[in-house]
Amino acid sequence: MTSETPGSLKPMNSSSSSKLSSSQAVSENFLKALDFAARKHRDQRRKDPEQTPYINHPIAVAHILWIEAGVSDEAVLMAALLHDTVEDTETTFEEIEQQFGQSVKEIVAEVTDDKSLPKAVRKQQQIDHAASLSDRAKLIKLADKTANLRNVAVSPPDGWSVTRIDDYVEWGKAVIDQIRGTHAKLESLFDQAYAQGKQATKT
Ligand code: ZN
Repeated sequence: MTSETPGSLKPMNSSSSSKLSSSQAVSENFLKALDFAARKHRDQRRKDPEQTPYINHPIAVAHILWIEAGVSDEAVLMAALLHDTVEDTETTFEEIEQQFGQSVKEIVAEVTDDKSLPKAVRKQQQIDHAASLSDRAKLIKLADKTANLRNVAVSPPDGWSVTRIDDYVEWGKAVIDQIRGTHAKLESLFDQAYAQGKQATKT
């Protein structure tokens, strides 16, 4: 490294490190959920040209909830990290309950599709079931669809036509339209992602 300026190796002073540890309510449970999800999804990649590691998606969902929308409910943030583990990996609901408790397991269960059903049925069920989700599951749903629409807008899966992108964006909106009135900030973030997705079908 030739660009280092004199003083850059100065050890971090004790006042700044103690400030770091006391200024944030760091959650041990949140980190455990992140570690669990990272291990479960470790072999999965998105189907975008960059083959983004799958774990970036649950992290993005938690980021939208916590950092962008100010949701601080720990169970919701943990469920955000875990929300695709049962649907997309060998993880069981029993495992989630054992490690993270019943309320986290229940939120994850609410947002997990039944993969034994054909895809078209699952997609319709998401629309039909959205309104009856608990408030916590609705928050995950809002952030999940926002993250998904941002992804297809910026970097759609390989081989997706404009029509397929548009269908996906409209389906996301059809789900979210069932749960409006849940969280104004998350809904406005979703609407921005929807606009971004629509824009991507016009370029
Ligand atoms: Zn998801």
